[in-house]
Amino acid sequence: MHYIVLDLEWNQPMSYNSPAYKSVGGKLLFEMIQIGAVKVDEKFNIIDSFSQLIRPEHYIKLHPRIMRITHITQDDLADAPGFCEAVSAFADWCGEDYVMLTWGCDDISVLNQNMTFFKCETPLAKIYDIQRLFGEMIGNSKERKGLKAAMEHFEIEPDEDKPFHNAVHDAYYTALVFSRLPEPRKVLDYPLTPKKLQHLDRGKRECTAILRVRSIKDGLSSSAAMTPPCPVCGKRMEVAEGYVRQRDEMYMALGDCPQHGLAFVKLQFGKNDEGKRIMTRSASLSDEQSKAYVNTKHLQWQQKLAAQQETENQ
Ligand SMILES: [Zn+2]
Repeated sequence: MHYIVLDLEWNQPMSYNSPAYKSVGGKLLFEMIQIGAVKVDEKFNIIDSFSQLIRPEHYIKLHPRIMRITHITQDDLADAPGFCEAVSAFADWCGEDYVMLTWGCDDISVLNQNMTFFKCETPLAKIYDIQRLFGEMIGNSKERKGLKAAMEHFEIEPDEDKPFHNAVHDAYYTALVFSRLPEPRKVLDYPLTPKKLQHLDRGKRECTAILRVRSIKDGLSSSAAMTPPCPVCGKRMEVAEGYVRQRDEMYMALGDCPQHGLAFVKLQFGKNDEGKRIMTRSASLSDEQSKAYVNTKHLQWQQKLAAQQETENQ
């Protein structure tokens, strides 16, 4: 028996108002554009690799964010096979006696949704989660660590000629982590089930918290204001420029989540029923996430902040 370590890249809709998203988005949130994998033998040596680009049929235009992180270009995909053909080539490469492994549940959720959407019936083996086994090993199964953190743990240096976010490179690094685990075979204790993928509706893209503060100044410099949580994943974000006063007791800043992108953070100061000063913090993910938009937003913020400081100094 051998192990197949799988990693995928996918495209996302240009916008949630695009005709493509409106027509298929309910059933296809992301469209796969690359299958990458490496084959690992029973002694945990990497013995082969597989990389296949896929021509998207619905989200045809590559999202700038995806182009930026994967370095895949529109031209690269033009002559690539369609989804089912790519999966069938992958299954042939996998061979007979194998189990499939991946890092976390994102990839198989996307794979599962694409398989269903494209009515692709190529059978693939059951998939197990290396991320959970790693979490168990470091004694923290709750917190889902990133692949890079696991590489750092084992002091695995990334190769210069294998940049991240290329499916076959990420699969290679995942396999290296897998082979360094004290008991790699235990990965079979962690079968994966795909999650249902859905675009987060408004409610889930916003989070609000009410906090007691002594003064507006204290509130603005508190960690609740300076490192607000991403409204989607809850990870602490940086507010690069800081807060700009919008109205008397209302301030806004831009937050950046490495995974979810630009969010708007709003602080509204006021008093609660007992007359104590409170700060209501709400963070919401921006609908627009193109690189140009995000850059412009940050520039605007720098200018607003500079103007604000000037008035304050007068
Ligand atoms: Zn996030």
